[in-house]
Amino acid sequence: MRMTGDSPLWTKNIEEGTTYPPLSQDIKTDIVIVGGGTTGALTAHYFMKQGLNCVLVEKNQIAHQSTAASTAILQYEIDLGLNRLMSMVGEQNAQQAFLFGYQAVMEMSQIVKEINSNCDFTFKPCFLYTQDPRKVDYMADECKSRQAIGIHCELFTSETHQNEFSFNFEVGVYSHYGAAIINPVQFTRDLIDYNVKKGLQVFENTNIVDYNLSSRQSVLITEQEFTITADKVIICTGYDALEWFKHEKPFYTLSRSFAVLTKPVENFHGWKEACIIRDDQDPYTYIRPTLSNSIIIGGEDLEIDDLDGEVANMGDRHPLALQQYHQLLRRVRRMFPQIENIKTDCWFHGLFVDTKDGLPFIGKHPDYPGAYFNLGYGSNGMLYSLIGAKLISQDVAGKNPKELEIFKFNRY
Ligand SMILES: Cc1cc2nc3c(=O)[nH]c(=O)nc-3n(C[C@H](O)[C@H](O)[C@H](O)COP(=O)(O)OP(=O)(O)OC[C@H]3O[C@@H](n4cnc5c(N)ncnc54)[C@H](O)[C@@H]3O)c2cc1C
Repeated sequence: MRMTGDSPLWTKNIEEGTTYPPLSQDIKTDIVIVGGGTTGALTAHYFMKQGLNCVLVEKNQIAHQSTAASTAILQYEIDLGLNRLMSMVGEQNAQQAFLFGYQAVMEMSQIVKEINSNCDFTFKPCFLYTQDPRKVDYMADECKSRQAIGIHCELFTSETHQNEFSFNFEVGVYSHYGAAIINPVQFTRDLIDYNVKKGLQVFENTNIVDYNLSSRQSVLITEQEFTITADKVIICTGYDALEWFKHEKPFYTLSRSFAVLTKPVENFHGWKEACIIRDDQDPYTYIRPTLSNSIIIGGEDLEIDDLDGEVANMGDRHPLALQQYHQLLRRVRRMFPQIENIKTDCWFHGLFVDTKDGLPFIGKHPDYPGAYFNLGYGSNGMLYSLIGAKLISQDVAGKNPKELEIFKFNRY
């Protein structure tokens, strides 16, 4: 299956960062983290804070896979919405998951400050809207449920707030806090560089091909036949980790998601506070600005049900991909007629893994008790990575965080 297609925007517009050598000898460590995307970087950060010896291995280059294809919206809200999530996982778990996301955005901003990252992290309001008049009550209830747990949001209706946006909407939840935008590749590189200065060992072009897992001490074997002996193994291999669960009935869905970056625009007229926007369609469309006044619009997901099929293996400039990009571009032009000359800078697509309840898988899998998994599947992948890094490092420290229950494997 192909992870990404065309030129992921974050590696296209950025200078090459620090490079790290491949592993060339057998080593021992407290913690080994497999995977050098945002998840691996955040996981390493939380373990380094505990003063443990950590090794991070990446089979290719740091931050070049899914991390580079992300539209990089950090948003507390989970796709299902709070009320639907409550009906699925219970009131307490759903509220906790939303609050975790809310806090994770704040925590991300603190990490950015701590490591002095140049990753354009910027807080933004966010707007979830519908054009369906039948959903007015649903949105009003959703807004109330969020306010009840302390989220600072308000209900916008076409009567009260239509002049804030140039596109039509019936009703929506406008959240003043709990969302942000970021450059994920810059952030991941900066976070790794910061921790390397504190003793983190990083090896690129180091593919782990075999795992002898045990809850006491595990041995990982690289393609070049070197070994890493570690007390704890944390798998942060993103969508590649699905390999581990091939023997199971899939507990996730696969799709391909598309995104377009525009050239800088002159203004954001008809777009309140250039906030993050998402509609309630299935699949939904989401829109965010960049700090250089471009627009990123994403969505038009295509489901993947055949791993050998066209969508699963779609290359660059595939006619179907071009069709999705043009659809996105037409949509953004229609929504913002007052913004002139919306032109494409680049487009890209990437594999996207989602779960039934929109929550990630964090913790141990019953079939592999010798490893932890930090798998931020779902649209809040980056925030989930942070939540996973925090909970797993707490668990290793013997704190047994009960919240791991919310994100456990086999929960549905
Ligand atoms: C189009 C698109 C838009 C998205 N938009 C958003 C968004 O707006 N907000 C958001 O939060 N999330 C979004 N996501 C999801 C987000 O990109 C991911 O959740 C996040 O990047 C996952 O990071 P990761 O580190 O887990 O995975 P990756 O970046 O894929 O990193 C995993 C790494 O593991 C390495 N690896 C795999 N196997 C091995 C091995 N055997 N040995 C060594 N290394 C190995 C891989 O090479 C890879 O670099 C989006 C995804 C897509 C595709």
